[in-house]
Amino acid sequence: MFAGQEGFFSDLRVNQQFMNKFLTLEKLSFGVGDRFAHQAKAQLAACMMVAKQGVEIVPVWNKSNREHTIIGSEPASTRAAAEAAVKALGWKKPYHLDADHIRLETVDRFIPHADFFTIDVADSIGKPADPKRVKAFADRHPELVGQIVIPQIDRPLETTPAEVERIAGKYLLAVQDAGKIYRHIAQAKGEANFITEVSMDETDSPQTPPELLIILAALADEKIPLQTIAPKFTGRFNKGVDYVGDIKQFEREFNEDLAVIAFAIRQYGLPATLKLSVHSGSDKFSIYAPIRHALKKFNAGLHLKTAGTTWLEELIGLAEAGGDGLALAKEIYADALGHVDELCTPYATVIDIKRAKLPAPAAVNGWTSQQFVSALRHDPRCKDFNPSFRQLLHVGFKIAAKKGDRYLNALERHEAVIAKNVTENLFERHLKPLLLDR
Ligand SMILES: [Zn+2]
Repeated sequence: MFAGQEGFFSDLRVNQQFMNKFLTLEKLSFGVGDRFAHQAKAQLAACMMVAKQGVEIVPVWNKSNREHTIIGSEPASTRAAAEAAVKALGWKKPYHLDADHIRLETVDRFIPHADFFTIDVADSIGKPADPKRVKAFADRHPELVGQIVIPQIDRPLETTPAEVERIAGKYLLAVQDAGKIYRHIAQAKGEANFITEVSMDETDSPQTPPELLIILAALADEKIPLQTIAPKFTGRFNKGVDYVGDIKQFEREFNEDLAVIAFAIRQYGLPATLKLSVHSGSDKFSIYAPIRHALKKFNAGLHLKTAGTTWLEELIGLAEAGGDGLALAKEIYADALGHVDELCTPYATVIDIKRAKLPAPAAVNGWTSQQFVSALRHDPRCKDFNPSFRQLLHVGFKIAAKKGDRYLNALERHEAVIAKNVTENLFERHLKPLLLDR
């Protein structure tokens, strides 16, 4: 049934040609966001600490169009900051620049500067595709109906013809959009010169393993040389705080997704480098061990994206510095609280702030460095840790952006204490439990 001839790289020999010709993504890659373009060195230092332990992970600096717009920055500045860090620390391994969550309307300004494009098609999910194309997809893929035996999944996946058509109907337009955006980038940049990710995470419902398989078949039909895919996983991936959901179910589905990807690479000739990308991946401490075990079991790669967790370490560092640093951190909190609705609305589906838990600015103004740091730092065991305070500040980077040079100068004045916090957060709380623990 699975001839795989439909795929554009129909066997592993062809896949070798892909590996030789295209820019490929390393097996383990770590997305880091550097909102104010001041922490690239401290972020790279965390990857170097992992390398010292014998595990290779490459950094990918990601910034979305939304972040650039809010901050008023340009993609060239992310490239410049990354290059300066790589040079300063003597990093000889690859690194990449991710045009995160782009669409056709927003991609162009990234094209000269990025070599990794996250094509976001979540908005097209569920919009009806042309019924003729849905039917053609189903006709082309009889193998997707019935029992699908996938190595390393205990029981076969089961689908009915109606279900395949329903799923194709839900995702086909999104996949076609991804194809359009991919070809637009390929034409401007040359198809061999960038890494393609497709993201479907910013949507209402998670994609099940059978849905993932159908999506991958459709992406292969669309001839997208997909190297990472970001599904929406089960459970809540709130910004800057731990995973909320059924960890056992997450673990089962994550393992099944890895099995589906390994299967789809062979059956549809997708690039051998194809792997999962976990978005909003920072601070999800309770799923790092299940992810680590699954990667080991499947000998699979991973791309984990983080972003705002680093900006919060800037605030932690400022607070820890005391004096003008602490005063500025308190001022940013007070301003954020004053604009709570405006800041939270765009992120409503990915934060969970309890308003009653947000301390009054007058109270915060009386805090010591230690009190501010304890409320903000993501240490779930600390009794003073305040997830609502943390999430408000997570979405509050616009306030810091408005402070302009005052904020940037403070980052420079207190660079040492901030850098220590940035590196330690990424290494101790993220990379170590994700990759190095036993
Ligand atoms: Zn995302």
